[in-house]
Amino acid sequence: EANLVSEDETVKTPPLAGANVMNIILVAAECAPWSKTGGLGDVAGALPKALARRGHRVMVVAPRYGNYAEAQDIGVRKRYKVDGQDVEVNFFQAYIDGVDFVFMDIPMFRNIENNIYGGSREDILKRMVLFCKAAVEVPWHVPCGGVCYGDGNLVFIANDWHTALLPVYLKAYYRDHGVMKYTRSILVIHNIAHQGRGPVDDFHYVDLPEDYLDHFKLYDPIGGEHFNIFAAGLKAADRVVTVSHGYSWELKTSEGGWGLHQIINENDWKLRGIVNGIDMKEWSPLFDVHLTSDGYTNYSLETLQTGKPQCKAALQKELGLPVRENVPLIGFIGRLDHQKGVDLIAEAIPWMVGQDVQLVMLGTGRPDLEQMLRQFESQHHDKVRGWVGFSVKTAHRITAGADILLMPSRFEPCGLNQLYAMNYGTVPVVHAVGGLGDTVQQFDPFNETGFGWTFDRAEAHKLIHTLGNCLLTYREYKKSWEGIQRRGMMQDLSWDNAAQKYEEVLVAAKYQW
Ligand code: ADP
Repeated sequence: EANLVSEDETVKTPPLAGANVMNIILVAAECAPWSKTGGLGDVAGALPKALARRGHRVMVVAPRYGNYAEAQDIGVRKRYKVDGQDVEVNFFQAYIDGVDFVFMDIPMFRNIENNIYGGSREDILKRMVLFCKAAVEVPWHVPCGGVCYGDGNLVFIANDWHTALLPVYLKAYYRDHGVMKYTRSILVIHNIAHQGRGPVDDFHYVDLPEDYLDHFKLYDPIGGEHFNIFAAGLKAADRVVTVSHGYSWELKTSEGGWGLHQIINENDWKLRGIVNGIDMKEWSPLFDVHLTSDGYTNYSLETLQTGKPQCKAALQKELGLPVRENVPLIGFIGRLDHQKGVDLIAEAIPWMVGQDVQLVMLGTGRPDLEQMLRQFESQHHDKVRGWVGFSVKTAHRITAGADILLMPSRFEPCGLNQLYAMNYGTVPVVHAVGGLGDTVQQFDPFNETGFGWTFDRAEAHKLIHTLGNCLLTYREYKKSWEGIQRRGMMQDLSWDNAAQKYEEVLVAAKYQW
């Protein structure tokens, strides 16, 4: 507490990070391990812990989609209006790894555990309006360890369009009226493809003064004049973070900004790219709980040469593929949609099955692509497995057992699977876009540097050419291969790095008047 800077002081130069102990509240629609559809859930579960390790008081606010054993009802009840209806919100709480996790129990969020973003556009919008209205007031109403966070020295971290209303509410309901004067908000862009778009008429759902309408109105060739929640959040937030440098650059282009590039360019001074980290408790080959049974084994840099082959054999056995040590085993894990470039793999399949390789693909998503995965498996049963489902255990086991991880994403804000892969000595082959370009340095055989292979256009022939090079190295240049694996594993991909950068952004927002 001695390090707290008095809120009334005008501070010209921010003191060094570390002297800036803050109250931080991260608000997200999903939070692993309780709820997760993708990278956002992982970030919401891990970044707060890393910020807490740096000495901050940190809370996560997420919806309560189901019964979470760890979290207790703390008896706080509040009512909020949405679409003219008065809705009661109950608060549940858990204190884990130095972080206060607060779950909002709201009837509308119940029983959608399997589809967090399910329902009609209006349904989702109403859920998010309610969630954000209640989240802004959490620091006043929800005591953690007996004491509320309060609104001085406080920074909110909102995430994606779902919580982009929070910076707007903070401004419109409070700061415009001299309340929460010292509270700041950061908005993190994990994926710009979803923006909370709707007809301009949707404005009535968000319950804001008429002069705020302009913040939401956007015109672009795709949607014409429409209502856009992300647009309003970007304008209202004090700082904007996105999950890689590459993506922060792409967002400013007309192809990468999905209609928001102009607003992002105008707010460029607020924007910073910070690559996500890995939750080392979950995703380290040495501590991975999914590698402790069924023939798998934990391993590290020291035991890579015995541990990884054992995991590979266990995976081949589990999948019913021929157990062979020297056949390159290629993995793919991810949502099955246009973004992830699954169709490029489909185009490359005839070439792939002509090689001596094994391929395992895990994913859920578009029904036609799910069907395609099943078809790959039935047509090429000796080589290919298409696992349709969301299985965290299988994702871990593929990451450990595969030699190569394919990520031909058309766009990829950060991408986590390539980070996990490198941490497990699995070599990534990726389209060099967004975070994939930032994190996977191309292998250079002359200098023996780099972590994997990259290709510069999301096209099947590029994928084939690049994967071909990778397979050649796997087969013919064992020493180089081992070098790639080891360099990948030796990187510091932990959240501690990223948390320090987030802290710099939070400090910058704090001293902005
Ligand atoms: P995105 O957020 O765009 O979906 P990321 O690479 O950032 O992509 O994060 C995806 C996360 O979701 C990773 O933790 C990945 O392992 C996980 N994941 C994706 N699909 C599946 C699946 N079918 N089963 C298990 N985990 C999955």
